[in-house]
Amino acid sequence: MLKTVKLSQANKTAGCAVTYRAGKANKYDTCPAKCELNASGRGCAPSAVDAEYLDAVLDSKPRSGHALTYSHFSPLYWAHKLHPQKTVINYSAPNLSAAVSCVETGIPAVAVVPVDFWKKNGNAKNTNIDGVRGVRCPAEYLAGVGCVNCGGDKAPLCARLDRDFFVMFTAHGVGKKKAGDPDAAGGCYADGGNVALHWNATSNADDDGLTDAQRLRAFAKTLPPRSVLRHHIAGDIGKE
Ligand code: SF4
Repeated sequence: MLKTVKLSQANKTAGCAVTYRAGKANKYDTCPAKCELNASGRGCAPSAVDAEYLDAVLDSKPRSGHALTYSHFSPLYWAHKLHPQKTVINYSAPNLSAAVSCVETGIPAVAVVPVDFWKKNGNAKNTNIDGVRGVRCPAEYLAGVGCVNCGGDKAPLCARLDRDFFVMFTAHGVGKKKAGDPDAAGGCYADGGNVALHWNATSNADDDGLTDAQRLRAFAKTLPPRSVLRHHIAGDIGKE
């Protein structure tokens, strides 16, 4: 199931168009079962990508605008489809060294760090690991900054395909302790607060007979030029 919101009111995504994606039987059923943040016991096999939805995500970039999203599926299954004219998919790397490897091979990546990471690093706004820069999401420390404007005129940081840094998020939400610990399963930020409300509602929505890809393509056509679209705030590219 896919829920679409033309103008998000949430802090980080205010001003963006956003979607939520959820399995019908269980909200985690479009996510990889082995994702380190998913302790539900539900989800897809590592290679079970929904090819129709993946193509729709990639194609659904507003004219003269930007589109971004994240996936916990291995880049093996989607990175070859990235293109400057399409949505940028970021690999949600399970740890910092995996994020570094992605940057070194030209794959956009993000990683989650523990709550005390920045304090331990002198309250810096970025870090450098093996010569590769990790940049903290500016929405975490700058008021009035979010996905719609975090990169200025160039593009939101996560919507830049060709970049020499990965983006870093501080673990947050009810599961932040687990999310910040690569050895602990669980901690998905979408499993609490307002995101969880949207995610549960998406899973429970009435089926209109359309595929998520069809819903997404129809929604993208309604967006005005220069929009910023953030795909599946919750959920992933898996096939339920
Ligand atoms: S760094 Fe990424 S998540 Fe953070 S505000 Fe920019 S686009 Fe959004």
